[in-house]
Amino acid sequence: MPWSRQDRDSGPRITGASGGFLHDEDGGRLLDLASGFVCVSLGHGQPDVIDAICRQARRLCWAPSSAGNDVRDTYAQRLAAIAPWPEGARVHFGCGGGESNDDAVRIARQLTGRPKVLSAYRSYHGATVGAGGLTGVDRWRDPLPAPSGLVKFTAPFPYRSPFHTDDPATEAARALEHLRTIVSHEGAANIAAIVVEPVSGSSGLVVPPDGYLQGVRELCDETGILLVFDEVMTGFGRVGTPFAATRLGVAPDLLTFAKGASSSYVPLSGVLVREGLAARFDDRLFDVGHTHAGHVLAVAAGLAALDVYERDGLFERASEIERWLRVGLGELAARHPVVGDVRGLGALFALDLVADPETRAPLVAWHEPEPSAAMARFHAALRARGVHTYGRYHLVMVAPPLTISRDELAFGLDALDAALDGLDDVMA
Ligand code: PLP
Repeated sequence: MPWSRQDRDSGPRITGASGGFLHDEDGGRLLDLASGFVCVSLGHGQPDVIDAICRQARRLCWAPSSAGNDVRDTYAQRLAAIAPWPEGARVHFGCGGGESNDDAVRIARQLTGRPKVLSAYRSYHGATVGAGGLTGVDRWRDPLPAPSGLVKFTAPFPYRSPFHTDDPATEAARALEHLRTIVSHEGAANIAAIVVEPVSGSSGLVVPPDGYLQGVRELCDETGILLVFDEVMTGFGRVGTPFAATRLGVAPDLLTFAKGASSSYVPLSGVLVREGLAARFDDRLFDVGHTHAGHVLAVAAGLAALDVYERDGLFERASEIERWLRVGLGELAARHPVVGDVRGLGALFALDLVADPETRAPLVAWHEPEPSAAMARFHAALRARGVHTYGRYHLVMVAPPLTISRDELAFGLDALDAALDGLDDVMA
């Protein structure tokens, strides 16, 4: 059982699902307020995606990743059309976010001939040795030896500023100054890439202050460092556009995706590379690959999911959900002093629970060796009211399927309200 003590009850046993609801083996229904791990964006049981998977399974499941294939080609072209580059793009597929982040690092190194890669302390990029090395070190308890050449920097976090300011513009400016100092010390000519989540996910759900990502882009342009956006969580409509790059108005050089691509019906991920860079492999070896890269069943699921996102206007739907969440979660924050902050964009929000609203001290310190009893009670209270979500320590994710109705969301917010009642008395 991943991410758990093996002698503990791991919560409900999920044996079915439909729409926004998970079904447990006792016949109970749980509203899935986090779309699984922010991945089942179409909700469960979407019939067109399931039909496409079944049709493809009967026709062809696997073809060599180095061979041509009609479904793969069509899907790659469709992805290029929604990628954030007018010049076009090419894609290298994988089976998970971590794997594709590893691939992005290798591609950036091959393109630049430079060894080092920078990423933020407050980040999550996956659990492979490579992506785990990119991930902020406060995530791991094992003595994971980071592969050499990975260097960390501090990203902005306006709510608990590491740069000693309450002003978001100053936070952005100081964070950029800090990043420039690190690039200068490490030597720009040694740095292949800077990898960032455009909105950091389960490591804090931090939306960068205005101007920060633009500043990182400018730094990369000045130095020839490639900018990689990890859009594993933010991609496929999560923030109201196909990719967060479009909404935030900053285009990276490479972009990784997974999760929502197939709505997690089948494992599928990839690295999108802007055309101008990808074309450099036309007359040299592209030295990256996997047995299951572009698995035909997975790309068929991705293609069908993309059809549904576009046909049903789901890339834009997060903007509507965002309006509901800003109001509903704002009301929860006003009622419950334990909610220190509500952060997010689109259909990707989190509650930041605090022990003291003045000091903003987290309700649960990160890296506590044991799960917090208070948070376990909170999640149990939510489940007792028919709602499921996940969180890390004091962070509660609210990232519903993009298909959620207003009534379903209201049901979820009512359950959050009741579960938060049980936390107000554990504050300092
Ligand atoms: N990158 C981000 C931003 C993620 O949120 C995740 C997973 O939650 C990953 C990478 C890793 O993806 P996977 O678990 O598919 O390897």
